[in-house]
Amino acid sequence: MSNKKISRREAIKGMLFAGMGLMSVSPIIQACGSKTGKASADSSEIPWTEAPEGSRIDTRTWDKMGETIGMLGLGCMRLPSLPSEGGGRGHGGRLDQEAVNAMIDYAIAHGINYFDTAPAYGESEKVTGIALSRHPRESYMIATKMSNMAFGRSEPTLEAARQMFENSLKNLQTDYVDFFLLHNVSSKEELKRRFLDNGVFDYILEQKAAGKIRHLGFSFHGSNATFPPLVDYYDWDFVQIQLNYADWKDMPANWGPSLGETSSEYLYNYLTEKGIPVLVMEPVKGGALANVNDAIAGVMRSRHPELTPAGNALTFVGSLPNVMVTLSGMSNMEQLKENVSIFTGFQPFDKKDMEFMQTVADLYKSNIHIPCTACSYCMPCPHAVDIPGNFRAFNAASDALSIPDPEKKGKDFNKKRKAFLKLYEELPSAVRADACVACNACLPKCPQHIRIPEQMKMISDLVAKL
Ligand code: SF4
Ligand code: SF4
Repeated sequence: MSNKKISRREAIKGMLFAGMGLMSVSPIIQACGSKTGKASADSSEIPWTEAPEGSRIDTRTWDKMGETIGMLGLGCMRLPSLPSEGGGRGHGGRLDQEAVNAMIDYAIAHGINYFDTAPAYGESEKVTGIALSRHPRESYMIATKMSNMAFGRSEPTLEAARQMFENSLKNLQTDYVDFFLLHNVSSKEELKRRFLDNGVFDYILEQKAAGKIRHLGFSFHGSNATFPPLVDYYDWDFVQIQLNYADWKDMPANWGPSLGETSSEYLYNYLTEKGIPVLVMEPVKGGALANVNDAIAGVMRSRHPELTPAGNALTFVGSLPNVMVTLSGMSNMEQLKENVSIFTGFQPFDKKDMEFMQTVADLYKSNIHIPCTACSYCMPCPHAVDIPGNFRAFNAASDALSIPDPEKKGKDFNKKRKAFLKLYEELPSAVRADACVACNACLPKCPQHIRIPEQMKMISDLVAKL
């Protein structure tokens, strides 16, 4: 693996030129933006809109795969939604094709060439396919997945998997997928049930042999103990794991079933020792590390005043040399531009910075946090509970150090009580935690293994006592 280095000064200079460059191409992009949501029949309508050297993100070259890939990848799980759809969630809401086109045009112009989607992300594959197919196929790489955990409670069959893969190609308007993942696998038992016993893995290998899949890997949401048997099962080209500074030493297991110890560090080191490139998901923990409280943000500012909290989180991940792509699920142009700026003339953390981030992680974890990444896999709830919305309200109060303790009360109790209830009551009453009937339908769907009904009860009990 080799890094391309561009100085910060060159990057800033380049960005000025990039602004000028994009001004000159924007009328063409606007002209080609689809008002109907249909792909342009002629992809040559979109010219090569490359931003100048110095305003494109750094790349790393992976010799074994023969690929040069931008260090930042666009995660298409949280693409912008139409305003009436509640904004930013990719699991079921109608996505804003115009906004997605603009983001993908900007991303490609600035050197992002890795785009990650999945059948489980609602409209994402289709909308991403429309936006990407307006560009030359060689200017981007597509990652999609076999989301056969999303067939509900029925057994995942070979025929359903075949349909899912063919549908992915159709949605993405392509004959081949560059990176294909077995989606959200936690253990060898799960691999066996979803891929081995039913012939799905053999089918995937056939697609690889036929050139329809170029590189094969899996995404992982299990524990340290369940990881090696999966990694050692096949000669994977890459593996996707959850990695961020807060989860580096340990991921919170106390919210879920006894998964056992899990840490990004262990998973990363295991793959690195095996020579397998690491794809990173949740580098900002579903946005949580971008919205830390003022105390934590201040601690980070004291060391790197030029970086935002999200910038610190992304720099931590990008500083690890065996990270192939840092995937960030972006919901708007502002996030995309900020993330691009971090990886343009990328300045890695040194050893001391990396250690410092563990102090920040300890501070972060000293607040009570429900480790929800707002992925919405658990949605819709049959009883209308907005599961990520309730967790977001709870975590926001926790970040603001405003979780009131009705047992002890204490001097700031009333202030905290008001602040917490204000956040909670922003949710419409029908979707609040007390609507949960503990039916458990959401439980098997959560990749973070959160005991959702228990946490809903914890929140509604707290509100009742307040
Ligand atoms: S357990 Fe509660 S939150 Fe989960 S699906 Fe059932 S009612 Fe909804
Ligand atoms: S509770 Fe779990 S599945 Fe639901 S949004 Fe949060 S992390 Fe995703």
